[in-house]
Amino acid sequence: MGKALIIGCGGVASVAIHKCCQNSEVFEEIMIASRTKAKCDALKAKLAGKTKTKIHTAQVDANNVEELTRLIEEFSPAVVLNLALPYQDLTIMEACLAAKTNYVDTANYEPEDTAKFEYKWQWAYRERFEKAGITALLGSGFDPGVTGVFSAYALKHEFDEINYIDILDCNAGDHGYPFATNFNPEINIREVSAKGSYWENGHFVETEPMEIKRVYDFPEIGAKDMYLLHHEELESLALNIPGIKRIRFFMTFGQSYLTHLKCLENVGMTSIEPIDFEGKKIVPLQFLKAVLPDPASLGPRTKGKTNIGCIFRGQKNGQAKTYYLYNVCDHQECYREVGSQAVSYTTGVPAMIGAMLVMNGTWRGPGVRNIEEFDPDPFMAALNKWGLPWQESYSPALVD
Ligand code: NDP
Repeated sequence: MGKALIIGCGGVASVAIHKCCQNSEVFEEIMIASRTKAKCDALKAKLAGKTKTKIHTAQVDANNVEELTRLIEEFSPAVVLNLALPYQDLTIMEACLAAKTNYVDTANYEPEDTAKFEYKWQWAYRERFEKAGITALLGSGFDPGVTGVFSAYALKHEFDEINYIDILDCNAGDHGYPFATNFNPEINIREVSAKGSYWENGHFVETEPMEIKRVYDFPEIGAKDMYLLHHEELESLALNIPGIKRIRFFMTFGQSYLTHLKCLENVGMTSIEPIDFEGKKIVPLQFLKAVLPDPASLGPRTKGKTNIGCIFRGQKNGQAKTYYLYNVCDHQECYREVGSQAVSYTTGVPAMIGAMLVMNGTWRGPGVRNIEEFDPDPFMAALNKWGLPWQESYSPALVD
């Protein structure tokens, strides 16, 4: 079918690249380009002889539009899959515009100096992508990503109108460390130490960090504490699901994680304000990232499952209806298959699927689009095929 350029070679990228290599009919050639080329070369060596996909590697600074544009023009891929950090979204989108190449990512843009993520910066590119005749697919991970696809699927097949969505993200994996994060620690801690919020009756309601707590009995896992967080898909689903009255996002955290986080916050280690240290400026959170376990090293030690899904409530044929769609993923099974734990797996698989659907033209529409704006059916079928089968329930327990 064609060529894809993958930017970044961290936890999520590693899974997406394994999956592209399992799907060689679509991904005939890939280029892995990242800041540290040695990581790309090591992954290429690991996959050598196990795939028909031809793998190239390159060094690139994804903050540099000219360097990126040159790389895209030289390789001429059908799609650029951005699996670097949210800080690089805009430079990669600029380069895609310059090289007239489709774009896919898994996280919305966040300026490095303010811990605030919003779609406004990327939505501002709509007209330019439309005029260039290329597609930008935003948020093709699990959440955002599969949660948007689940919402579009529920709306298409199960409801006339959806009024309430609760997105529940449970990670019941145990890595044996008192404190570690399952994906990039800097991005993760910025997300969970921020104020929470949910969408209700046309606007966001802000909460203190971790102010709202619920307990939910997750299928195949059991009862877990979960906390309301702000999350990026709330913003796009609020626009794209007609009739929506409320959307909330909950994530599970264990007590040890929260106690450590509170302590780190109290001593100033989660701050993103640079400080002077022995004549050098350092950002405490970046220093903390350097001393925490690398998420990629958690794979072999993490046991247990994740369960991520959405509970929908709304109307069908004049009757009230409830519907729950979710995926359960086992950390150890992911590790056996691709050498990564389930948090990277549940993001990397949808990233490959989104890139595939844009590449093969199933999802095409010039402009900048969130994932729920596309037909969910081919993505739902691909989830079952590529390792993230979904389950449904018509009588789930509800979150009060
Ligand atoms: P990692 O930190 O493991 O990987 C990031 C990669 O990007 C690294 O290889 C890093 O290079 C590379 N990189 C960083 N800066 C640059 C740069 N300037 N130029 C080139 N390459 C660069 O992160 P994850 O794999 O955990 O996360 C990747 C993305 O996935 C993030 O945007 C994250 O927010 C998103 N995500 C989305 C989820 C979802 O469900 N939607 C869930 C989890 C994550 P180096 O190796 O040199 O550090």
